[in-house]
Amino acid sequence: MTAKGSKPNNAVNSGTILERANEIFDAHLGMNKLRRTPERFAILKEVYECNHHFDIESLYKSMKSKKYRVSRATLYNTIDLLLECDLVRKHRFGEQQARYEKSLHHKQHDHIIRTDTGEVIEFCDPRIQSIKATLEEIFDLDISHHSLYFYATPKDKKTENV
Ligand SMILES: [Zn+2]
Repeated sequence: MTAKGSKPNNAVNSGTILERANEIFDAHLGMNKLRRTPERFAILKEVYECNHHFDIESLYKSMKSKKYRVSRATLYNTIDLLLECDLVRKHRFGEQQARYEKSLHHKQHDHIIRTDTGEVIEFCDPRIQSIKATLEEIFDLDISHHSLYFYATPKDKKTENV
Protein backbone atom coordinates (compact mmCIF):
# COMPACT_ATOMS: atom_id res chain seq x y z
CA MET A 1 0.00 0.00 0.00
CA THR A 2 1.31 3.44 -0.86
CA ALA A 3 1.49 6.29 1.60
CA LYS A 4 -1.22 8.32 -0.12
CA GLY A 5 -3.52 5.58 -1.33
CA SER A 6 -5.65 3.38 0.85
CA LYS A 7 -8.23 0.68 0.53
CA PRO A 8 -11.75 1.99 0.78
CA ASN A 9 -13.47 1.30 4.05
CA ASN A 10 -16.94 -0.07 3.43
CA ALA A 11 -17.74 -0.79 7.06
CA VAL A 12 -20.92 1.24 7.32
CA ASN A 13 -24.30 0.26 8.67
CA SER A 14 -25.88 -1.54 5.73
CA GLY A 15 -29.35 -1.58 7.34
CA THR A 16 -29.83 2.17 7.23
CA ILE A 17 -28.13 2.44 3.83
CA LEU A 18 -30.62 0.01 2.33
CA GLU A 19 -33.47 2.00 3.88
CA ARG A 20 -32.10 5.21 2.36
CA ALA A 21 -31.62 3.47 -1.01
CA ASN A 22 -35.23 2.24 -0.82
CA GLU A 23 -36.45 5.80 -0.25
CA ILE A 24 -34.44 7.19 -3.19
CA PHE A 25 -35.64 4.39 -5.47
CA ASP A 26 -39.22 4.78 -4.30
CA ALA A 27 -39.10 8.52 -5.04
CA HIS A 28 -37.54 7.87 -8.47
CA LEU A 29 -40.24 5.36 -9.41
CA GLY A 30 -42.94 7.72 -8.18
CA MET A 31 -41.55 10.68 -10.09
CA ASN A 32 -41.41 8.66 -13.31
CA LYS A 33 -44.83 7.08 -12.74
CA LEU A 34 -43.34 3.59 -12.70
CA ARG A 35 -44.79 0.70 -10.76
CA ARG A 36 -43.31 -0.04 -7.33
CA THR A 37 -43.14 -3.80 -7.85
CA PRO A 38 -41.76 -6.14 -5.16
CA GLU A 39 -39.31 -7.50 -7.78
CA ARG A 40 -37.70 -4.10 -8.21
CA PHE A 41 -37.17 -3.69 -4.47
CA ALA A 42 -35.91 -7.26 -4.14
CA ILE A 43 -33.29 -6.49 -6.80
CA LEU A 44 -32.26 -3.30 -5.00
CA LYS A 45 -31.85 -5.30 -1.77
CA GLU A 46 -29.76 -7.93 -3.54
CA VAL A 47 -27.53 -5.21 -5.03
CA TYR A 48 -27.01 -3.55 -1.65
CA GLU A 49 -26.22 -6.85 0.05
CA CYS A 50 -23.50 -7.50 -2.49
CA ASN A 51 -20.06 -6.22 -1.45
CA HIS A 52 -18.25 -6.68 -4.71
CA HIS A 53 -18.56 -5.95 -8.41
CA PHE A 54 -21.15 -8.08 -10.15
CA ASP A 55 -22.53 -8.64 -13.63
CA ILE A 56 -26.17 -9.21 -14.52
CA GLU A 57 -25.69 -12.93 -15.01
CA SER A 58 -24.20 -13.45 -11.54
CA LEU A 59 -26.99 -11.33 -10.03
CA TYR A 60 -29.53 -13.46 -11.87
CA LYS A 61 -27.97 -16.68 -10.58
CA SER A 62 -27.69 -15.35 -7.05
CA MET A 63 -31.36 -14.34 -6.97
CA LYS A 64 -32.45 -17.59 -8.55
CA SER A 65 -30.57 -19.54 -5.86
CA LYS A 66 -32.59 -17.63 -3.28
CA LYS A 67 -35.82 -18.63 -5.05
CA TYR A 68 -36.60 -15.16 -6.38
CA ARG A 69 -38.47 -15.36 -9.65
CA VAL A 70 -36.98 -12.46 -11.58
CA SER A 71 -36.39 -12.47 -15.32
CA ARG A 72 -33.20 -11.22 -16.92
CA ALA A 73 -35.27 -8.54 -18.69
CA THR A 74 -36.52 -7.25 -15.33
CA LEU A 75 -32.96 -7.29 -14.00
CA TYR A 76 -31.63 -5.22 -16.92
CA ASN A 77 -34.56 -2.84 -16.69
CA THR A 78 -34.21 -2.39 -12.92
CA ILE A 79 -30.43 -1.88 -13.07
CA ASP A 80 -31.05 0.84 -15.67
CA LEU A 81 -33.45 2.54 -13.25
CA LEU A 82 -30.90 2.24 -10.43
CA LEU A 83 -28.27 3.82 -12.68
CA GLU A 84 -30.63 6.71 -13.43
CA CYS A 85 -30.96 7.57 -9.75
CA ASP A 86 -27.24 6.99 -9.02
CA LEU A 87 -27.82 4.05 -6.71
CA VAL A 88 -25.54 1.90 -8.85
CA ARG A 89 -22.25 2.51 -10.66
CA LYS A 90 -21.53 0.82 -13.96
CA HIS A 91 -18.05 -0.32 -14.95
CA ARG A 92 -16.27 -1.62 -17.99
CA PHE A 93 -13.20 -3.40 -16.69
CA GLY A 94 -11.90 -4.21 -20.15
CA GLU A 95 -14.19 -7.18 -20.68
CA GLN A 96 -17.39 -7.73 -22.67
CA GLN A 97 -19.76 -7.80 -19.71
CA ALA A 98 -20.49 -4.58 -17.86
CA ARG A 99 -20.12 -4.86 -14.12
CA TYR A 100 -21.90 -2.92 -11.43
CA GLU A 101 -21.65 -1.97 -7.79
CA LYS A 102 -23.80 -0.14 -5.28
CA SER A 103 -22.88 3.50 -4.91
CA LEU A 104 -24.80 4.98 -1.98
CA HIS A 105 -22.49 5.65 0.99
CA HIS A 106 -19.93 3.52 -0.74
CA LYS A 107 -16.71 5.40 -0.19
CA GLN A 108 -15.41 7.08 -3.34
CA HIS A 109 -12.86 4.83 -4.96
CA ASP A 110 -11.29 3.97 -8.28
CA HIS A 111 -9.99 0.78 -9.80
CA ILE A 112 -6.84 -0.93 -11.00
CA ILE A 113 -7.41 -3.84 -13.37
CA ARG A 114 -4.77 -6.53 -13.68
CA THR A 115 -4.67 -7.34 -17.36
CA ASP A 116 -2.96 -10.70 -16.70
CA THR A 117 -5.57 -12.07 -14.27
CA GLY A 118 -8.57 -9.75 -14.64
CA GLU A 119 -8.44 -9.03 -10.89
CA VAL A 120 -9.94 -5.67 -9.96
CA ILE A 121 -8.28 -3.76 -7.11
CA GLU A 122 -10.05 -0.85 -5.45
CA PHE A 123 -8.11 2.11 -4.13
CA CYS A 124 -8.96 5.44 -2.65
CA ASP A 125 -6.73 8.46 -3.19
CA PRO A 126 -7.82 11.89 -1.90
CA ARG A 127 -5.77 13.58 -4.63
CA ILE A 128 -8.47 12.60 -7.15
CA GLN A 129 -11.02 14.69 -5.20
CA SER A 130 -8.55 17.53 -5.20
CA ILE A 131 -8.06 17.31 -8.98
CA LYS A 132 -11.86 17.39 -9.35
CA ALA A 133 -12.16 20.49 -7.14
CA THR A 134 -9.38 22.24 -9.08
CA LEU A 135 -11.01 21.47 -12.46
CA GLU A 136 -14.39 22.70 -11.23
CA GLU A 137 -12.75 25.93 -10.14
CA ILE A 138 -10.76 26.48 -13.35
CA PHE A 139 -13.59 25.63 -15.76
CA ASP A 140 -16.42 26.91 -13.58
CA LEU A 141 -18.28 23.59 -13.87
CA ASP A 142 -19.82 21.00 -11.57
CA ILE A 143 -18.36 17.57 -12.17
CA SER A 144 -21.02 14.92 -11.57
CA HIS A 145 -19.15 11.70 -12.36
CA HIS A 146 -15.75 10.50 -13.31
CA SER A 147 -14.34 7.33 -14.67
CA LEU A 148 -10.75 6.30 -14.04
CA TYR A 149 -9.20 2.89 -14.63
CA PHE A 150 -5.57 1.87 -14.39
CA TYR A 151 -4.58 -1.28 -16.27
CA ALA A 152 -1.61 -3.09 -14.79
CA THR A 153 0.65 -6.12 -14.84
CA PRO A 154 3.00 -7.28 -12.06
CA LYS A 155 6.37 -5.56 -12.00
CA ASP A 156 9.20 -7.48 -13.60
CA LYS A 157 11.31 -8.31 -10.53
CA LYS A 158 14.48 -8.97 -12.61
CA THR A 159 14.68 -5.49 -14.11
CA GLU A 160 13.69 -3.93 -10.80
CA ASN A 161 16.82 -5.24 -9.10
CA VAL A 162 19.29 -3.95 -11.71
ZN1 LIG B 1 -15.45 -0.69 -6.98
